[in-house]
Amino acid sequence: MTDPSHASENARSTTNPYRVLPQLSSLLETIETDLVSPQLRAHILRDELDRIRREIDEGARPSTQVVTERCRAAIAALRGSRLDEAINGTGIILHTNLGRAPVSEATAAAMSKAASSYLSLEVDPESGRRGGRMDEIARLMRVLTGAEATLVVNNNAAAVLLTLAGLCAGKEVIVSRGEAVEIGGGFRIPEVVSQSGCRLIEVGTTNRTYNSDYLRATSEATASFLRVHPSNFQIQGFVTKPSTAELASVASAHGTLLIEDLGSGALIDTAGFGLRSEPTVREALSAGASIVTFSGDKLVGGPQAGIICGHADLLQKITRHPLARAVRADKTTLSGVAATLRHFVAGEAELRVPVWQMLGASVDELRRRAEVICNETDAAVVDSTSSIGGGTLPGETLPSVALALSTANADEFARRLRIGTPRVFSIIRDGAVLIDMRTVQHRQDGILADALRGAIG
Ligand SMILES: *Cc1c(COP(=O)(O)O)cnc(C)c1O
Repeated sequence: MTDPSHASENARSTTNPYRVLPQLSSLLETIETDLVSPQLRAHILRDELDRIRREIDEGARPSTQVVTERCRAAIAALRGSRLDEAINGTGIILHTNLGRAPVSEATAAAMSKAASSYLSLEVDPESGRRGGRMDEIARLMRVLTGAEATLVVNNNAAAVLLTLAGLCAGKEVIVSRGEAVEIGGGFRIPEVVSQSGCRLIEVGTTNRTYNSDYLRATSEATASFLRVHPSNFQIQGFVTKPSTAELASVASAHGTLLIEDLGSGALIDTAGFGLRSEPTVREALSAGASIVTFSGDKLVGGPQAGIICGHADLLQKITRHPLARAVRADKTTLSGVAATLRHFVAGEAELRVPVWQMLGASVDELRRRAEVICNETDAAVVDSTSSIGGGTLPGETLPSVALALSTANADEFARRLRIGTPRVFSIIRDGAVLIDMRTVQHRQDGILADALRGAIG
């Protein structure tokens, strides 16, 4: 970046602006570290010097000291990781930029074990013969949702793409205009439908679509109706769409499939948490959806994955499609998904799965935790509002409690928190830095207090 103090001074002078760039050999002597090999060090420094040279081309006027510091930082950056543990004080539970759902301790342990050892992934231990890699997850999912069969892939975007490619390629897929949506960066239903080799037929209007709209568009060429959860927006006012059950009966009367992209994939009802009711996977399947897809790392609260549930014959067709191999989940993910599902089977999701712990935490409990931290720092406790995030339950909020730190410069204080160890992500409101307690994992309370003290000091 440019160094403004030197920019103006050097711009007027007639000296060569490139003279601040040191010789590589002298840099190699100044920046000593035994942590990176000399060849690699030379490579990194050459890259950084090239970058600075291009910036000078464009008018930047860094000082020699800035250049040296940047070279030093480029080498140091290789040792430290940006992917370090972070404390989420934003109040957004499924924060996409912070990695969405943190997994339970048991899930993390299962994933770590799977990563560092062999496992009976595709072997039936009883017979020693080859077994399916989805057997265990399919069994758990059958108990939880009634699904005949399950396939886990890389993420829900892959789940939708693969399902359409496997079941509908070369034919028409009917989507309501209110559901031909874009979710997150780059997942746009019209594009996904065309990438999967299907022709999109849009019906109805943005706010109102009826059974009869689907019916009129149905023909020999129709492979499926596709319902998509409008995950990241809400339409207020006059809105109509058929229920899954209504649409399923139209679909089955005309021999077409009903594929439902649920997005979040609730396994338990969110209504018990003071939130709007999200359709659960079980409800969608029992209402007659042939296939449902959802993410593993939204309301399931597990690792990143896409989960496809539905009729066994359809799942078999999907599994055999060549794309299935391209988007398949690895052993670590499969172990993590299975471990997370076991919490739901045991009825302990609210106690063990971080996303559900956060959804279920009471304001009193959050206030008590905040007060403990306040006693150790000079923060104040204020009311706050958490949201779900991650394209889940848009517009829904939960009352919460935050730590408030008043500082002369909130932006600078927030930056200090972000670059500390661990990193702390906060919100700035009315000039104060707030840390919403709902999204701080309970086990992080102590290190949060330390981080705050460090940043204040
Ligand atoms: C989030 C979401 C997706 C994308 O899921 P990823 O797991 O992020 O790939 C697709 N469809 C809907 C309806 C969603 O909410």
